[in-house]
Amino acid sequence: MSYGTIDRVAVLGAGNMGHGITEVTAMAGYDVTMRDIEDDLVDGGYEQIEWSLEKLEEKDRLNEPAADVLDRIETTTDLDEAVSDADLVIEAAPENLELKHDIFADLEELTDEDTLLASNTSSLPISDIAEVLETPERVLGLHFFNPPVKMDLVEVIYGERTTDEVAEAGYEWVESIDKTPIYVRKDVRGFVVNTVLGPFGGEAAWMVSEDEATIREADAAMVHQRGYPMGPFELADLTGIDVGYHVRKEGGTPVPPIIEQKVENENLGQKTGEGFYNYEDGNGADYEPGDGEGFDTLRIEARLANRAAYIVGEDVSTPEEVDIGVRLGLGFPEGICRRADKIGIDTILEKLETLQEETGSNRFEPHPYLEELVEEGRTGEDAWAGFYEYDTDEGDLDSYHDINVDLEDGVLQIELDRPSRMNALSEDLLGEIDDLFSSVDTDDVRCVTIEGAGDRAFSAGADISGFSSTKPTDMMQVTPAFETVNDFPRPVIAKIDGFCLGGGLELALACDLRLATERSSFGAPEIGLGLIPGGGGTQRLMRILGETRAKELVFRGSHIDAERAQDWGLINRAVDREAFDDVVEDFVSDLRNGPPIGLEVAKKVMNEGEDASMEAALAMESQGFGLLISTDDVMEGTMAFAEDREPEFEGE
Ligand code: NAD
Repeated sequence: MSYGTIDRVAVLGAGNMGHGITEVTAMAGYDVTMRDIEDDLVDGGYEQIEWSLEKLEEKDRLNEPAADVLDRIETTTDLDEAVSDADLVIEAAPENLELKHDIFADLEELTDEDTLLASNTSSLPISDIAEVLETPERVLGLHFFNPPVKMDLVEVIYGERTTDEVAEAGYEWVESIDKTPIYVRKDVRGFVVNTVLGPFGGEAAWMVSEDEATIREADAAMVHQRGYPMGPFELADLTGIDVGYHVRKEGGTPVPPIIEQKVENENLGQKTGEGFYNYEDGNGADYEPGDGEGFDTLRIEARLANRAAYIVGEDVSTPEEVDIGVRLGLGFPEGICRRADKIGIDTILEKLETLQEETGSNRFEPHPYLEELVEEGRTGEDAWAGFYEYDTDEGDLDSYHDINVDLEDGVLQIELDRPSRMNALSEDLLGEIDDLFSSVDTDDVRCVTIEGAGDRAFSAGADISGFSSTKPTDMMQVTPAFETVNDFPRPVIAKIDGFCLGGGLELALACDLRLATERSSFGAPEIGLGLIPGGGGTQRLMRILGETRAKELVFRGSHIDAERAQDWGLINRAVDREAFDDVVEDFVSDLRNGPPIGLEVAKKVMNEGEDASMEAALAMESQGFGLLISTDDVMEGTMAFAEDREPEFEGE
């Protein structure tokens, strides 16, 4: 059986997930039919899509008018009409196995044999859903996260009988709608993301149940010391304490007493006004940064790493996939495999063994894969190998975690890759930038571009989570990354689409040229935190904008839009989003084909001359001029000019 191209998609269910999946599918250019069982349900879902598209349009985040996207969406209550011409059906009906059995049995009758049948279930095994079919090989999981419009991740899940061809077709389709797929190669309960997440809330709840910590201690420590977007109890209150409770019960996992109590008293979280925190009479999650002192964060992170070891060790997913999953699906500040490598796999193993001995609980039983890693000496980053290999080869562009790097035809393209954090600049990310710019072979590079991953930001600032545990003296050493970019002997372009704030703005200022989409906004909001820009921002803004405007940005801390940024000379161009790539390409092409030594000397003389006296700066200029005169490039440039052709500079 061959699964051809996907043109038409059907989504079953117009609820929370169904309408969102329909929306992102239509936004990617597919014709899609959304089906629910009653007219008002279909209409309700459609109205939510209209509302959401309108919002996206207002924020300039659509590439076409909202009406054109809506034109591709049809709605119906008739199953046959919805699915008979579909190449892919995505079921997003309520989480009930019997109901899903009925739906998939109907689908087998009503669709062609080469139609892909996907379920968006979050907890039912795909193999169980597919068991009623004679063609289970074409059933797969496509697990979107809520809300699909915002969340980039989709888990692509194999049931026991799913063929590679089917999973690959699903994976490619997810890429085609501009989402990030990860494979879940075995049908494990909770798939990847929820499997890893389990102990985050679970272990914290055991610690509180056993009087080893308080709720506020746990939340404050995980957020302020370890950088998680929410504390375990805060998160449980948001998702509903009963949700985690039922998942544990169904999975046969013991339930920590504190969760049991909350469910018995019907204090289920924000939705009931009270959970671990009080949302009606109290202030909600009111923990303070200092509350986390002394909390044993390693106990939770060791268990998260143990789950990751299970996923990787059983060949369900790769470390990269686990890490993409938790970053995009849960907003974790970094991947759990990556974090385990930094903590040390041996430290994690020892922690689990000690806890297992002390408590006698099999929660801490280390997965054999962890033991294997330690036995092989793969104890993490310090040993150059752990979950990941840490390549010591200089200039290996694939060895970075927080940036994506590509070198093609002399253009070094860098993507800041922390989209779930709006590409906030963490210490690791800046370290990688510094390392890349210091180690890449400049002979291979003619120009550099830096952009942000995702569709919201170039970079929205420095990652300040974890600041409260940093010593002031550590903070005095400003990262060298900005200077390394500024001093790099090739032109560097900041490609800005979305927020460019704080540390992100400072990185853009360290680049030579700044191109931005019209929807972008700029600002130095540090003053609002009682801080000042710390990556060269105060000084570069003065030089680029002059005192009047620089002080307005730094003192007021407010944002300016791209039009004003262009007027002020903060950026070279503010461009319509549709024309952006072409404009960038024009700049890149000029720089890539320009004379490398000439550009290097121009950059150096202009950068260094700025801070020198006029006399000294002119001396630098004539020195540079003299140096260039003797190069082959100048010969080639003058000959090409005389012969009326494009020069071909060799950088010699
Ligand atoms: P929901 O209750 O908001 O929506 C389900 C919709 O399906 C309802 O409108 C219902 O009328 C409709 N429906 C019922 N029977 C149907 C049928 N035979 N054909 C078509 N539609 C039918 O639920 P939801 O939150 O959108 O969840 C849907 C699925 O997605 C579940 O399997 C759930 O586990 C999964 N999921 C949910 C989330 C989440 O956060 N809500 C996240 C990921 C996955």
